[in-house]
Amino acid sequence: MAANVDFAVSRLLCVNPATGEVLGELDSAGPTEVRAAVTRARDAQPDWNALGIRNRVRVMRRFQQILLSRKSEIARRITQEAGKPVVEALLTEVLVVLDAARFLIDNAFAILREEKLPHGNPALKTKSGRILHEPYGVVGIISPWNYPFSIPATQALAALVAGNAVVLKPSELTPLIAFELRSLLREAGVPDDIFQVLPGEGATGAALVASAIDKLIFTGSVATGRRIAQIAAERLLPIVLELGGKDPMLVLEDTDIDVASSGAVWAAFVNAGQACLSVERCYVHRSLYSHFIEACCEKARKLRVGNGMDEATDVGPMIHERQVRVVESHLEDARRQGARVLTGGTRLRELGPTFFAPTVLADVDQNMRVMREETFGPVLPIVPFRDDTEAVRLANDSDYGLAASVWTRDRARGERLARQIDAGTVMVNDAVSYFSISEAPHGGVKSSGLGRTHGRWGLEEMTRLKYVDSDLVPRIKKIWWFSYGGGFAGEMKGFVDILYARPLREKLKAGLRSAGALWRKKL
Ligand code: NAD
Repeated sequence: MAANVDFAVSRLLCVNPATGEVLGELDSAGPTEVRAAVTRARDAQPDWNALGIRNRVRVMRRFQQILLSRKSEIARRITQEAGKPVVEALLTEVLVVLDAARFLIDNAFAILREEKLPHGNPALKTKSGRILHEPYGVVGIISPWNYPFSIPATQALAALVAGNAVVLKPSELTPLIAFELRSLLREAGVPDDIFQVLPGEGATGAALVASAIDKLIFTGSVATGRRIAQIAAERLLPIVLELGGKDPMLVLEDTDIDVASSGAVWAAFVNAGQACLSVERCYVHRSLYSHFIEACCEKARKLRVGNGMDEATDVGPMIHERQVRVVESHLEDARRQGARVLTGGTRLRELGPTFFAPTVLADVDQNMRVMREETFGPVLPIVPFRDDTEAVRLANDSDYGLAASVWTRDRARGERLARQIDAGTVMVNDAVSYFSISEAPHGGVKSSGLGRTHGRWGLEEMTRLKYVDSDLVPRIKKIWWFSYGGGFAGEMKGFVDILYARPLREKLKAGLRSAGALWRKKL
């Protein structure tokens, strides 16, 4: 079991990162509340499971319609708490969740239904097997602040439709939107104890990991993910880890500079660069390098930075001053080692302490922190490369492997390179947006995580497989049972040859050698 997770119950202050306005105050859940919530979830889960998948799909359909009718209000609440432009809240959060519900409504039954498993082992032909996808029971979800609605909601919907109860520990920076999710689910018909929210900081998350949950879906930093994996290993708690990224973008020499530079600027600065799938490293063929940089700078300068509630805003504030300081330290390190800031590079203090100018960097070296660690801010470092081999080598020279993108007019070449890149997803001619394709699995390799969310694979993560096997001739003792007796080993060698020997003549000879086994006396 995990170490003691004792802590004094603290108050969480929910703050609008654009204005500093206090949006609310909440008590953190302590270990006793965490344990009690998990117990309630466990007690309620069998009835939820007994409802059956078709009825839970009906709940999903109601949830989808309720969310649709409240889409603008939910988007505004996300913006208030997380800062992103309200149109991004609509498209990268609300729409993603509506589509996740659509995916489950259309596919959950087909993916999770019991199925017969035909088999090809001739020695066991009298066996008939079925595959069952059983819910784990209580699924814990720990989530970050950067997509405070879409990340926990897509994971929770999959867990719920599969028949689990869910206990969610949202980020301490964005707990209020998790309560909105709870109210949407309740209105749709999810019982109170089947979806619970426990606000709190890391200690509340640690208490959830240490509690009697049956599975954990964690999304957050590599450092926290590692700590959680160690604790989970102690009691073999199954986990999915969706961790950080340092996604490379490869711009090949045949790329349309105007299109790719617009793509780079969007993918680097969407959500103020605070996306796990942000383009954090941009490698450009040297023949395009100067033109590409110029185009990126020009476009970055045109971006309107401001309060996300203003519909004209392109880039909102960063979540917290702490995050701004990480960006500043990466830039400081890069400058010291010779990188040039071509645009941006500073806070926009006139807007508030959390606003940072979209930044383009040149003369960057692969060993700078800005190329090795997750910056998680509006910074686009651009590096030239000579040929495809070097581009792939640079892309793969990272501890991370969440996603990547290849940009080219030649789709076949793009897909060829995609196969050589170590990442959970590689997009050709776009970045980030696959997260909105509910069928597509999401997850990383290397330090970017374990397991998958989204799509069939994300849904299957919410269930454990059970194989149920029935013998079709129950009145007959099996040939391989005791007692073996002399000669049985020889007969069985013959039997193995019957199954696999070639040619037919060998099989027939083996048949004669093994026939005695049929009349062998068993215990
Ligand atoms: P974080 O690791 O600081 O926190 C994530 C969550 O874990 C929070 O709810 C936090 O309270 C909780 N937590 C902290 N310490 C804990 C502990 N010891 N035990 C249990 N829970 C604990 O990450 P963050 O700053 O909230 O989020 C940003 C990070 O998340 C970035 O690295 C980003 O790339 C990553 N992220 C990954 C994905 C993905 O899908 N791969 C998506 C979004 C964000």
